[in-house]
Amino acid sequence: MISPNPNAAPLIELADVRKTYLLGEVELPVLKGVSLEIRDGEMIALMGASGSGKSTLMNLLGCLDRPTSGRYVLDGEDVAGMSRDRLARIRGQKIGFVFQNFNLLARTTAVDNVLMPLEYSTSRPSDTVARARAVELLTRVGLEDRLDHEPGKMSGGQQQRVAIARSLINQPRLLLADEPTGNLDSKTSKEILELFKRLNAEEGITILLVTHDPNVGAAAHRRIVMRDGLIADDGAGHVHVLDEE
Ligand code: ADP
Ligand code: MG
Repeated sequence: MISPNPNAAPLIELADVRKTYLLGEVELPVLKGVSLEIRDGEMIALMGASGSGKSTLMNLLGCLDRPTSGRYVLDGEDVAGMSRDRLARIRGQKIGFVFQNFNLLARTTAVDNVLMPLEYSTSRPSDTVARARAVELLTRVGLEDRLDHEPGKMSGGQQQRVAIARSLINQPRLLLADEPTGNLDSKTSKEILELFKRLNAEEGITILLVTHDPNVGAAAHRRIVMRDGLIADDGAGHVHVLDEE
């Protein structure tokens, strides 16, 4: 079992990160100064009411978008001001994504869905090696007998397992999952949660899950709570005092 090392440099460091969307002429501040550290090997639940900025924060952490201001250091690199091309490269090398709606390609086998991120990879292995890796990942998530099935012929839980295998194809340090059990029944949610726990414990992958599910929250090492574009509680003993509403 790998535990987070409290002395290691943080994998993620955010300092006063702000994100403001521009709607025509109107500025909509969504992240209002987020500071946060996440260490290698942590499993974190990101919680908070709908609209509090969780997905916006996940998009920034995943290098899918850039902050309006503030500092973001990922694995020792300052990524806040990087070009979109460099961000895409970092994303491919270091980050895996899992979504609420699975986001699988419909008329495509499980193996080919898992291989999909390699299309954008700069260090693409040979087809034989890539396929072997996809099969190994699908086996690891318990789908060794569904390799050539298309998503439409699988249950929601099986589809999310394919998506988790896909998120691992580039051997990421960080897995970001935005409400990964939001479309699953409670029994299937538990199974998917067990899979995340196993990936974190056995392989040391740092995992950040957005969730409303208290069971998922309870399984995490740490719960970060957002409120109205700010971290209300970072789960590490830093509770921000907010004005009563
Ligand atoms: P959560 O994931 O916690 O529900 P979001 O980060 O999705 O919250 O959204 C926070 C706020 O930002 C919401 O008011 C939402 O409407 C707004 N928002 C999110 N993305 C955009 C965007 N691309 N353009 C404008 N407003 C956005
Ligand atoms: Mg969201």
